[in-house]
Amino acid sequence: MSQTSPVVIITGASRGIGRGISLLAADHGLSVAVNFVNDSDAAEETVEMCKRNKKEDSQKFIPIRADVSTPDGRAVLVEETLSKFSRIDALVNNAGRGPKIRVDITKMTLESYEDVMRINLEGPLFLTQSVVNFWLAEKVKSFLPGGFKVLFISSMSAYTASVDRGEYCISKAGLSMVTKLWAVRLADAGIQVFEIRPGIIETEMTKGVKGKYDPLISSGVVPQKRWGKPEDVGLAVCSILLGHFPFSTGEVVNIDGGFHLQRL
Ligand code: NAP
Repeated sequence: MSQTSPVVIITGASRGIGRGISLLAADHGLSVAVNFVNDSDAAEETVEMCKRNKKEDSQKFIPIRADVSTPDGRAVLVEETLSKFSRIDALVNNAGRGPKIRVDITKMTLESYEDVMRINLEGPLFLTQSVVNFWLAEKVKSFLPGGFKVLFISSMSAYTASVDRGEYCISKAGLSMVTKLWAVRLADAGIQVFEIRPGIIETEMTKGVKGKYDPLISSGVVPQKRWGKPEDVGLAVCSILLGHFPFSTGEVVNIDGGFHLQRL
């Protein structure tokens, strides 16, 4: 790794999958802009955990409060990262959430639809646009092996229909196309783009449906018959960040214990 550690922005890193990715990134010598929106104590905790994992003196971990669902929040995130780290080498678009209330698609409200879209789709699309335009305009070189990288944490919901949270599924399906668009646009600039598709991962988000999913998982809906962990996603993300997929872009990586396999 270079003398100055590569810097990765991880959105929604105060807990769950974002924290899992941050800890693995720290363990692999990267600096992390730990983005969050509400819970500053949890973001601080991620920072402290990263510090315990760090490998190089040059690594830095800084919490940045910014709402990625708004233009102002996205501007703050990019500006603060550049002012505190002086560079950006990768962006991991992880922040996201389901609808506040799950209702059948016949009762889905425009308000809930727009709310989920702003966070899960508009946020990553336009945050990526800001970061990419900075890279293209500044003509800076990446410290990561194989160049700059953008990752989108989508979901198995990109292709699995759950009629009681249609907004979420639509947003994640949209994110798949966002991945393709950026991958094609950025390939000749040497910027790689990936979609990571987690399956059922044990986090705050899935706490409320644990009772429903436990028997499904043990009955084989997930062929590997276990819950995914945030570290499972973190390991995949770090393999990409560290340049282990040099001849790929726009690739979908399923981290789901085999859930996506069609069976008969
Ligand atoms: P989580 O435990 O609920 O954590 C969500 C994180 O996103 C928190 O750090 C939260 O920050 C942050 N966040 C929410 N809205 C934000 C905003 N507007 N701006 C900035 N940060 C925001 O969720 P998770 O399970 O780790 O999920 C992370 C990603 O993986 C999501 O995109 C989700 O759709 C996807 N995913 C999850 C699963 C799963 O089974 N868990 C499966 C597939 C895909 P605060 O703490 O400050 O609120």
